[in-house]
Amino acid sequence: MTSAPGPRAGDRPAESEARPSGPDARSGTGALIDRYGRTAIDLRVSLTDRCNLRCTYCMPAEGLPWLPRGEVLTDDEVVRLVRVAVERLGITEVRFTGGEPLIRPGLVDIVARVARLTPRPRLSLTTNGLGLDRLAAPLRAAGLDRVNVSLDTVDDERYARITRRRRLADVRAGLAAAATAGLRPVKINAVLLRGINDDEAPALLRFALAHGYQLRFIEQMPLDAQHGWDRTAMVTADEILAALSDQFTLRPDPVDRAGAPAETWLVDGHVDSTGGPARVGVIGSVTRPFCGDCDRTRLTADGQIRNCLFATAESDLRTPLREGADDTDLADRWRAATWPKRAGHGIDDPTFLQPHRPMSAIGG
Ligand code: SAM
Ligand code: SF4
Repeated sequence: MTSAPGPRAGDRPAESEARPSGPDARSGTGALIDRYGRTAIDLRVSLTDRCNLRCTYCMPAEGLPWLPRGEVLTDDEVVRLVRVAVERLGITEVRFTGGEPLIRPGLVDIVARVARLTPRPRLSLTTNGLGLDRLAAPLRAAGLDRVNVSLDTVDDERYARITRRRRLADVRAGLAAAATAGLRPVKINAVLLRGINDDEAPALLRFALAHGYQLRFIEQMPLDAQHGWDRTAMVTADEILAALSDQFTLRPDPVDRAGAPAETWLVDGHVDSTGGPARVGVIGSVTRPFCGDCDRTRLTADGQIRNCLFATAESDLRTPLREGADDTDLADRWRAATWPKRAGHGIDDPTFLQPHRPMSAIGG
């Protein structure tokens, strides 16, 4: 239950003296290593900044100024950059996200092409679940391994209040289709909001257990477009665990967390869809940061590399890509973008600055 050890804001970079300017230029091969010695193996690819929901903690009711079409990477460009990451940079996990990735027309084809890369990366998708009832089987056939479906409440009225759309039944259908298609374990991501669904942790867990889904709570982060996040109002990991422990017996999960952001607990007396012990997870991004173990790198829908969800700087790969850069050049730029990654997100630091892009445009 402790936060991961590792660099803290203000720590000295481990290798700064040995490699003052970052990775060797024109190396062409080698992993995505940062100056604190962390290696990125998990790539989050945002396929669009657009969305068909308007979750209050993510974007305003009227939506956002979407990226112009011409700035969004084409399917070929996405696959090219993912190929460079897999073949040259040691990426072994690729997660497609957004915005809402299911509304990207070329999604199934992109998944199929990425699934044919060597070495084949593990492929997953984070989605709000709308349309998953239709797309789960084709995505599975294309090579998708797993899905995370975002669902913050099992109450129709609350769902409409949180997402500003009345679509809970569609999400439930999407979850069921994902399980039927074999995208297991089906995971649910839930964010609790003070005064709206902060009492719903046990009900969400009962729902997940009843259907064999794996539930993870995520602490709300300062990534909303409206800048409405309030540290004093957020529902913390401790509160979530206390609420769950009132109604369930939780035991620390003996399985090593292995760098995963979620701390997991076994739920006594319950089994999951595979017959093993049921688990529930909590991602305490704010109160239990795991930056010291971070193994992620991000590609935005418009071809920018972000070495951290909370990075305030990005590295442009789209321009060199469109100007004819070769794979070696793209890989070197990606490595150089990784090297200066900060020790931690610094949310609790008085000088913390929320990133310019909201979560929906970064890719959550
Ligand atoms: N539209 C897809 C979805 O909702 O799953 C993918 C993109 S969404 C930005 C990815 C995840 O980020 C969702 O699970 C969502 O709940 C979460 N998220 C969005 N804004 C957040 C915030 N301010 N704090 C914590 N999680 C957030
Ligand atoms: Fe859309 Fe996902 Fe943001 Fe909700 S959390 S508005 S579904 S991008």
